[in-house]
Amino acid sequence: LVSRKNQQEDTVVSIGNVKVGAGKPIMIAGPCSVESYEQVREVAAALKEAGITVMRGGAFKPRTSPYDFQGLGIEGLKILKEVADEFGLKTISEIVHPSHIELAGQYIDVIQIGARNMQNFELLKAAGDVQIPILLKRGLAATIDEFVHAAEYVVSRGNKQVMLIERGIRTYENATRNTLDISAVPILKQETHLPVLVDVTHSTGRKDILAPCAKAALAAGADGVMVEVHPNPAVALSDSAQQLNIEQFHQFLSSVRQSGLLK
Ligand code: PEP
Ligand code: MN
Repeated sequence: LVSRKNQQEDTVVSIGNVKVGAGKPIMIAGPCSVESYEQVREVAAALKEAGITVMRGGAFKPRTSPYDFQGLGIEGLKILKEVADEFGLKTISEIVHPSHIELAGQYIDVIQIGARNMQNFELLKAAGDVQIPILLKRGLAATIDEFVHAAEYVVSRGNKQVMLIERGIRTYENATRNTLDISAVPILKQETHLPVLVDVTHSTGRKDILAPCAKAALAAGADGVMVEVHPNPAVALSDSAQQLNIEQFHQFLSSVRQSGLLK
């Protein structure tokens, strides 16, 4: 169903009045984790000022270590909603359990399925049973074919509002956290009709190359870019090293906008 052979025209995913895949690329930004109302509010104010309308923030965090911050859970989704309502923003947050999929619709606008859960088939089926836009991340070691089949799980259950996001894959290269597979963008655009985005933060894991990677993604045809922003990355409860502070975010954004690839 997600194949270009089955449907020629691009799927456009509506996040409220934000259209993804309609030819005007979007920027999604926000903290790795929702940590507090004040923290999210500070980021939201910066996004609003920059003309960004879609905010991300993790409430259920799939951490490598069980001793690391696991996220605020439902409380985190409530914070996102409260702040988003105040600033007129749309929100994206990861859901990790099938039983939370329906509930999530009360608080957030887009459900993210994280890299570690790309082949959590029960979660994919639950995501397919609702009519909430889904942002599906590529698995850490997933081939493009496996990624496309994961999307097929969602769409085949009836939820056609699926966006794909390349977030880097595991290779031997350790100059970056993961290897951003830019070639996945034109391949996914060619082989599927779904919107394709690029998460420059989790793919590179380094703040100093985000702007060129975002430009490369957009030049390759991406429908959007995702980046992590935190008011004070040094004290962030997750991904402290890779999040931009607000000033760096404004610089990043103006650099990407100067390329003319993002409005
Ligand atoms: C995230 O975007 O919050 C995240 C955990 O990313 P990934 O699933 O790509 O590692
Ligand atoms: Mn993160």
